[in-house]
Amino acid sequence: VYILGIETSCDETSAAVVQDGRIVLSNIIASQADIHKRFGGVVPEVASRRHVENITLTIEEALQVAGKTLDDIDAIAVTCGPGLVGALLVGVAAAKAIAFAREIPLIGVHHIAGHIYANRLVEEMQFPLLALVVSGGHTELVLMKEHNHFRILGETRDDAAGEAYDKVARALSLPYPGGPHIDRMAAEGNPSVPLPRAWLEPDSYDFSFSGLKSAVLNTLHNAAQRGETIDPVDLAASFQSSVVEVLVEKTIRAAKEFDVKQVVLAGGVAANKGLRMALQHRCEKANVPLVIPPFVLCTDNAAMIAAAGFVSYQQRKFASLDLNGTPNLPLETSAE
Ligand code: ATP
Ligand code: MG
Ligand code: FE
Repeated sequence: VYILGIETSCDETSAAVVQDGRIVLSNIIASQADIHKRFGGVVPEVASRRHVENITLTIEEALQVAGKTLDDIDAIAVTCGPGLVGALLVGVAAAKAIAFAREIPLIGVHHIAGHIYANRLVEEMQFPLLALVVSGGHTELVLMKEHNHFRILGETRDDAAGEAYDKVARALSLPYPGGPHIDRMAAEGNPSVPLPRAWLEPDSYDFSFSGLKSAVLNTLHNAAQRGETIDPVDLAASFQSSVVEVLVEKTIRAAKEFDVKQVVLAGGVAANKGLRMALQHRCEKANVPLVIPPFVLCTDNAAMIAAAGFVSYQQRKFASLDLNGTPNLPLETSAE
């Protein structure tokens, strides 16, 4: 079964061909990061226009690299939410046009389900499965007892992890997106600046990063007022160790409580080297199998959307041609 995946929820225009939900034949990603850099974040109108310009060529390239034509494609899977509505609509419209013209099934995919299913491109899933989702807009612990079934155990009460990374990076005058820059600096610094850890209530699987972000900003501000300088490399290391410690400890606690067979890491912040190392270390100690996607499958891409779409294909859960982009699409009901 060959599925053509399409992803346009934010600032990556991506198309991919995936075989049987497991084998990536192509995964073309046209990033707009260079354009949005000038504004220090994604500008929705600019993103939509860019998607319109890029979508056709991106799909053609995905087919060409895979050595396939539309005649070979069994279904189209497209991100239908959450994300920027104008951006989502470009992918959804393209997918609907192909599905209609070729008379093949259309599948709507939740973007976060896609991030989670990136792991199935690495290794087969084992249930019950726990996913730590850490991206630009989401931070949540998701329990899956079977395919396409998602239960959110906890989520961020304020900023997402990636958002916190990008805001701290901005305070340090690093270019957008700042996550990778902080990651690189953290590897060289000492976590010597005292910063809070947001554990919340003892039994909570929720997260909070806005207090930490404020603490970083206050540290910089107070130092500036006293005419002192803070080594940005040490500050980055301190910030990262606070984020990573909370993410990893809550993940391990949930993995034990729900006796999961596998932990998977998902979302753009899964590219973080400090997080990958710490989680690997703790999962080994706790004897829980861990899957981490390669870097290119962590940030937004269409291969993960095709991988998630394959499950719906097998379950014959198809969308009709009135499929819409839904900016706040919930994960838990998306599979029902
Ligand atoms: P969502 O998936 O929640 O809709 P999004 O699609 O915008 O949001 P992703 O593309 O999944 O987010 O991830 C982008 C985020 O990942 C950015 O905030 C970026 O800074 C962060 N990120 C990427 N690489 C790293 C890294 N090495 N360390 C920390 N953060 C990183
Ligand atoms: Mg992006
Ligand atoms: Fe994403």
